[in-house]
Amino acid sequence: MTTYWMRTAIPWNLRWEEVSGYDENMNTIRTYQVCNVFESSQNNWLRTKFIRRRGAHRIHVEMKFSVRDCSSIPSVPGSCKETFNLYYYEADFDSATKTFPNWMENPWVKVDTIAADESFSQVDLGGRVMKINTEVRSFGPVSRSGFYLAFQDYGGCMSLIAVRVFYRKCPRIIQNGAIFQETLSGAESTSLVAARGSCIANAEEVDVPIKLYCNGDGEWLVPIGRCMCKAGFEAVENGTVCRGCPSGTFKANQGDEACTHCPINSRTTSEGATNCVCRNGYYRADLDPLDMPCTTIPSAPQSVISSVNETSLMLEWTPPRDSGGREDLVYNIICKSCGSGRGACTRCGDNVQYAPRQLGLTEPRIYISDLLAHTQYTFEIQAVNGVTDQSPFSPQFASVNITTNQAAPSAVSIMHQVSRTVDSITLSWSQPDQPNGVILDYELQYYEKELSEYNATAIKSPTNTVTVQGLKAGAIYVFQVRARTVAGYGRYSGKMYFQTMTEAEYQTSIQEKLPLIVGSSAAGLVFLIAVVVIAIVCNRRRGFERADSEYTDKLQHYTSGHMTPGMKIYIDPFTYEDPNEAVREFAKEIDISCVKIEQVIGAGEFGEVCSGHLKLPGKREIFVAIKTLKSGYTEKQRRDFLSEASIMGQFDHPNVIHLEGVVTKSTPVMIITEFMENGSLDSFLRQNDGQFTVIQLVGMLRGIAAGMKYLADMNYVHRDLAARNILVNSNLVCKVSDFGLSRFLEDDTSDPTYTSALGGKIPIRWTAPEAIQYRKFTSASDVWSYGIVMWEVMSYGERPYWDMTNQDVINAIEQDYRLPPPMDCPSALHQLMLDCWQKDRNHRPKFGQIVNTLDKMIRNPNSLKAMAPLSSGINLPLLDRTIPDYTSFNTVDEWLEAIKMGQYKESFANAGFTSFDVVSQMMME
Ligand code: AMP
Repeated sequence: MTTYWMRTAIPWNLRWEEVSGYDENMNTIRTYQVCNVFESSQNNWLRTKFIRRRGAHRIHVEMKFSVRDCSSIPSVPGSCKETFNLYYYEADFDSATKTFPNWMENPWVKVDTIAADESFSQVDLGGRVMKINTEVRSFGPVSRSGFYLAFQDYGGCMSLIAVRVFYRKCPRIIQNGAIFQETLSGAESTSLVAARGSCIANAEEVDVPIKLYCNGDGEWLVPIGRCMCKAGFEAVENGTVCRGCPSGTFKANQGDEACTHCPINSRTTSEGATNCVCRNGYYRADLDPLDMPCTTIPSAPQSVISSVNETSLMLEWTPPRDSGGREDLVYNIICKSCGSGRGACTRCGDNVQYAPRQLGLTEPRIYISDLLAHTQYTFEIQAVNGVTDQSPFSPQFASVNITTNQAAPSAVSIMHQVSRTVDSITLSWSQPDQPNGVILDYELQYYEKELSEYNATAIKSPTNTVTVQGLKAGAIYVFQVRARTVAGYGRYSGKMYFQTMTEAEYQTSIQEKLPLIVGSSAAGLVFLIAVVVIAIVCNRRRGFERADSEYTDKLQHYTSGHMTPGMKIYIDPFTYEDPNEAVREFAKEIDISCVKIEQVIGAGEFGEVCSGHLKLPGKREIFVAIKTLKSGYTEKQRRDFLSEASIMGQFDHPNVIHLEGVVTKSTPVMIITEFMENGSLDSFLRQNDGQFTVIQLVGMLRGIAAGMKYLADMNYVHRDLAARNILVNSNLVCKVSDFGLSRFLEDDTSDPTYTSALGGKIPIRWTAPEAIQYRKFTSASDVWSYGIVMWEVMSYGERPYWDMTNQDVINAIEQDYRLPPPMDCPSALHQLMLDCWQKDRNHRPKFGQIVNTLDKMIRNPNSLKAMAPLSSGINLPLLDRTIPDYTSFNTVDEWLEAIKMGQYKESFANAGFTSFDVVSQMMME
């Protein structure tokens, strides 16, 4: 604000005069006066000096003046005025002179005509009191560096006492936690000038933008947004300062609230704390609020009471004396079995049952069952709460030792049908999981499903196989079995349903069995013809499935594979632009901290294969195989290595090796799969030569076929199906593995199994001729390889085609020679191998048919009794020429010639066997 005394003004035509006078309070003052009322046409100007604008947009002018009332002047002419005009003129520097700017409106800009509120009537300029008026006017916008003001008298009698020139501004303030700098008012009196605020130290914005508006009167209006003190700071001094929380107090969040005292068992380490740290031995669980006291682990449970009942146990206890200050106390039970009392205790196995559960018990009691009989156990009851994990100490526990008593055996879990006739069913079952002693015998109870349980018949069996005789044909029976030890009978197994054969089924089965019966008793021609005839019968039947009863169907579900509708199709990872994408899509990334490598078990193509354990969060620890990628690999090797995981990860079948996941974010890169205790099938069989029953071997083949059916249904062609690529677990379950592609590559490995061929390496002995000749790899070529695997299995890991050269093998196959049945190989199995080795790939069975055929053999083990004729001698021809397919002949005579049976043409004709239709219906008699 600037006040200009008129002393410094410039009167233009010397009519404004500077004189002394008195104000209302009789103080002497200097004024400019003009009073030419008796002369007409007055135009008297008074101009201020150059006034600097100083950034203002609007200028305010306050004028103090007095005006003489015209009516009070005797005989004044009509031109007498009681007003004057206010003007301004903008300039960039002090450029005015006596003649410039012109003393007239335009260039001068008129602000207003100023009139007095009060005028005075008595003129006494020589010291009498004047009435002083104060008027304020403003103008804008102004933009040059300064301006002049001018007062125009045009015939009045007045005195200009003081002029104050000023602009308005809003001062720097702190409001809503933000600083707003000094801001000048706008150009119009109604303007609002927005100003951005910035948070004071240690405050943070809550709502943005942070604004205030400066109005024309220099007042701040309309606050928007705000800042608040951040965590660890509180607002003081009327919200203008954010001060760090004093020691011993904290503030966890941004906001208006004040710092609060640290909760019990915690303290601060410096000022401005956002939380208080727990004292030694005290902790805060992840979800504990910061204002909650720090807590500690509970003391041990007390007064444990145990009551043993045979092989189960009830434990009860009272809660710990000190809960650690928390309310989330639970109990975990650790079970250790101590054998017969000597030696170290070991953790109990998975079969022990806990009710309601083993970990996280909320009540102080637990029921534990399925313990071993006559065994010492130690149970630890741990008291655990929300901060146990944070404590470096193990949970406190109470322990109790108990010894179980004698107990009855547990229930048998599954029963299988071994065979059936119209009036009998032969069943077998596995021993109960917990025999709890030597099993003395079993009791089988059965009744016809249509009748009530009260009609049940019970029979005893010293072994786990029994043939129930005297049943009705085609009837469904309900069976249950239980085991007995010195402790008495165990519980009955669940009910299982099996059905006897109908007469019609029986007739059919007799026909199927004929060659086998005859094959083992007759010789020479009769045998050969029977084989041929049955081959025809079987061929005719192929594709014709008997509709089994509902129950048989259900029973067989666990053995017979079945196509799932809408089954997934395999996606080749190399179709991905970035193969790493395929890995991410199909393989789960495992954190290396979950993997424990324990032992090297083999050498893979890319690095060592190890065994170890995998413990994923929230899951049980499992035994795994870990394939590693050796260091110094190229990017391509890494891709090829991981491609196996992207393939394996797409499969989910009990007979296909299961991928647990991959480790790619750390080195070495790893592929983690389920662990197969017995390793690869070829070496496993070689190590156990002659040790398995035919049913066991067929069971293994069945598993491999089921896995291959699954892969074929997914459109996946394996290309390297061989016993070396099948893994075996501790339950003799076989799983298809080895989905790596790299061994086929030209530049890879020097393994002689894989022979270079046009476009890659091929395992000649296992590969179908069309795949060798023109790389036609299909599920049908996988079926060929499957036939070779069958041969490997039945010969306990013999090398296919022994030491013949690859070229000899190719030539022999070309001339229709095929591998002969291995020693003791049932003829039905050798026949299945020969089917797999059909030259025309369309004539080979599908994997689904192979599974069904093997299932039938398992259900009807008699079908495996007949041994292939060439299996008994040692000096056999190396290869067996296959019997030509009758369909390639026009007449029965031609066919008999071809199979070197021409001398029987006449007998066939006489017996009426003149067409293949009739021959196919030929009975043994
Ligand atoms: P591979 O590179 O798949 O041929 O594996 C090399 C060897 O490691 C195999 O011949 C097996 O003896 C062993 N092996 C591979 N995978 C497993 C597994 N899942 N479980 C047990 N042993 C395995």
